[in-house]
Order: sequence, then C-alpha cells, then structure tokens
Amino acid sequence: MSAAAESTESESEFGKSNPFPAPLLKKYNLNGDGSAKETIHAEISIEGSGFTYDAGDALAVVPQNAPDLVDAFLEATGLEGSQEVTVGEEVISFADALRDKFDLRVVTKVVLTKYAKAADLGELLVKCADREWVKEYTWGRDWVDVVKEYPPSSLSANDYGSFLRPLAARLYSIASSLHAHPNEVHLTVGTVRYEAYGRAKKGVCSTFISDMWDVGATAGVYFHHNPNFKLPEDGSLPIIMIGPGTGIAPFRAFIEERIAKGATGKNWLFFGDQHEATDYLYQSEWEAYLDAGHLHKVDLAFSRDQATKIYVQDRMRENAEEIWKWISAGGYFYVCGDASRMAKDVNQALIDIVAHQGGMDETAAAAYVKQMQKEKRYGRDVY
Ligand SMILES: Cc1cc2nc3c(=O)[nH]c(=O)nc-3n(C[C@H](O)[C@H](O)[C@H](O)COP(=O)(O)OP(=O)(O)OC[C@H]3O[C@@H](n4cnc5c(N)ncnc54)[C@H](O)[C@@H]3O)c2cc1C
Repeated sequence: MSAAAESTESESEFGKSNPFPAPLLKKYNLNGDGSAKETIHAEISIEGSGFTYDAGDALAVVPQNAPDLVDAFLEATGLEGSQEVTVGEEVISFADALRDKFDLRVVTKVVLTKYAKAADLGELLVKCADREWVKEYTWGRDWVDVVKEYPPSSLSANDYGSFLRPLAARLYSIASSLHAHPNEVHLTVGTVRYEAYGRAKKGVCSTFISDMWDVGATAGVYFHHNPNFKLPEDGSLPIIMIGPGTGIAPFRAFIEERIAKGATGKNWLFFGDQHEATDYLYQSEWEAYLDAGHLHKVDLAFSRDQATKIYVQDRMRENAEEIWKWISAGGYFYVCGDASRMAKDVNQALIDIVAHQGGMDETAAAAYVKQMQKEKRYGRDVY
C-alpha cells in the first residue's frame, strides 16, 4: 500500500482536503537507552474535530520538511527562500513552499525525468529511460543530492514547483481505542534515519513527529478507515495478533477496545523486535493485561538476543497446534507491520500451519487462508 494517505468519508467537516489542526498532547521514545531503534509514542487530541474512528483505522499526518533540508535545497539550487512563488491558488515564499508543499525527499523516475527535461540535462534524460539505473540511483538520494550531482543550467523557483511532487500525508495505524481515550488518537511511529551520500537523511513524517511536532503545537490530521482490519463483532471469538516492531500499534487499540466492550474472547499476541531489554514496546502494558487476564498468551521473538535469529513466524510455527485450535474455533487472525518480508513470511507460516494441522495440501491450505481473508477473519495492515 502507498504511504500516501487517501481520503475517506467522515461526519466531520475536516478531511483530506481540509485536515484538522490537531494538538500534540504527549510524546516519548518507547525504546530504551542503547537501542538501534527509535519508536515514538505520540498522543494527539482530536477534540472539536467531529472525527470518530474504530480500532483498526489509521491516521494521516500532514508533515513539514525539516528546516535543515529546506536550507540544503536552497543552497544547492542557489535560489532565495524569500522570493514569492505560486502554488495552486496561493502566493507564498519559496522557503515556506519548500517546507509545506513539496516532497524534497523521495526521488521517483517520473519526477527525475521531468527534472532532466526542465533542466535540459540530456545525459540524465537518457539515463532516466533505464529503470534499473533509476532504481539504484534514487535509493537513499533526495532532491539535494540530485541537484548537486546534476546541476541545472537555469531553473527558477516556480520551475521547481512545476515538477516536484506535492508533500503527501503519511498514514499511521492507530494505537488507541476511542473508548479508552476519548478525544485522543495514539500512534506508534518508527523514526526513519540513515546516512547516505555524505548526509544524514531523515524520513519526512516520522522525524516531523519525533523532532518538529512540539507538545501543544498542531499538525494537520485526518482519518483513513480500514474496513478489512476490524475486530469480530462477536466478542466471544478468540483473536491472534502478529505485530512485530511498529506493527504492534493496532493491537494496543484492539486490546483496549476489547476491554472497553467487555469482550470475553481470548487474545493472543505475537511481538518481536531486536532486543528484549530495549525494544519490547509497551512491555508494562502487556504485562498488566496478562496479570489482569485480558491478554491470554504472549509469544515474543527478539531476533538479536541469541546467535540464531528468531522471528514471529518462527514462534507461530512452534505454536502450530494451538494456533490451528484457535482458528478452527472461529478465531480471527491479524498481521500488522513490514510488508516486504515479515508479512509474507507470516502468511506462509499460516498456510503451512493450516496445511499440517488441518491435513490439507498446500493449495487447499492457501485457499482456506484466502477464504479467511474474504470473510475478514484474516486482517492485514501491512506497509
Ligand atoms: C496503512 C499504513 C499504516 C502505517 N502504520 C505505521 C505505523 O503504525 N507506524 C509507523 O512507523 N509507520 C507506519 N506506516 C508507514 C508510514 O506511513 C511512513 O511510510 C513511515 O513513517 C516513513 O515515512 P517518512 O515520511 O518518515 O519517510 P519518507 O520520507 O517517506 O522516507 C522513507 C523512504 O526513505 C528511504 N529509506 C529508508 N531507509 C533507508 C535507508 N536505510 N537507506 C536508503 N534509503 C532509505 C526509502 O526510499 C523509504 O521509502 C504505515 C503505512 C501505511 C500505508
């Protein structure tokens, strides 16, 4: 799924074309000292927005580009930030446009080609026709890198505005239930930071949330409803939740919602990350739920706490018999988080479990899993 957030219907006067200016109430890093990860828990107020949401929905956050990125872009282009540019109907300073309106981070084949044409860069235009070259070149590079490596002979501020992609909102799975936290939305945001081509690079929205969005200040938000990722209406049915890393977010919402609604069905969580000591997100909450009998089973997979890497799908396989019991009792199965590898491995583990435990061949097991998805008993919130 694209990270760009789509519009959804809402009772609210606010939405994609008119995001609600939501104040940040609180934020903190969920990872302990020494972790390689930085995962921000953010609490946001939606009081007065008229928005409602269900557990399983996502929030779109409208970011701003970081000041150091805007400055670096102005320096690379040699253009003045104070000059006025026209963006849609608005006339604003180029610096503000670079902060609020344009994506300076992600370089795509389409935009690179437009740049090569507008900047009259014949050599770059030829290279842009080569998909493999573009894929390799654009990985880890931003528009500052491109302008430095392929300087245009002359391009005005308005020229840049004619081809740079609009700065898109990013989606985050909601980590709270509205019943447990009226007027609030909580998020679990993994910050993207890396070094590439001699500069520190930052994911636009994740670092906007962690570095730039101060408590009390507002940012534009709207909701993205996800009808395919919902709790069973019958609260007596068991649920199995696979949510490593930031994939944990919607399951915090699910448990809060099940408690608020008095659901009696059993809840089983699989969580994983690098190290238990620093990366067990919301550990105290899960432990309290276990003690209180709201959570019935937790299986953990910390990949780097031993010589052999262990992942959530390995824990699933170890628990094959029990997983099959829960599923054949009408249970719901959910996975959230990394789409590129984790969700595929979890899907395969599920098919294998259904095949071995249910006495089916691979094709029949795959069809069974597909049918679960059709019946919305297998929800996927992967990105
Ligand atoms: C339905 C849905 C739910 C989501 N839920 C969550 C959630 O709960 N929590 C969460 O944290 N995220 C979630 N996401 C992902 C989120 O929307 C953003 O994609 C994420 O925060 C990164 O956005 P960004 O603006 O910080 O990074 P961007 O500015 O978009 O940059 C990300 C890009 O940087 C590049 N990049 C990243 N790392 C490297 C590297 N090491 N080397 C080179 N290039 C690199 C890649 O091209 C990558 O696509 C969800 C996405 C969807 C679609």
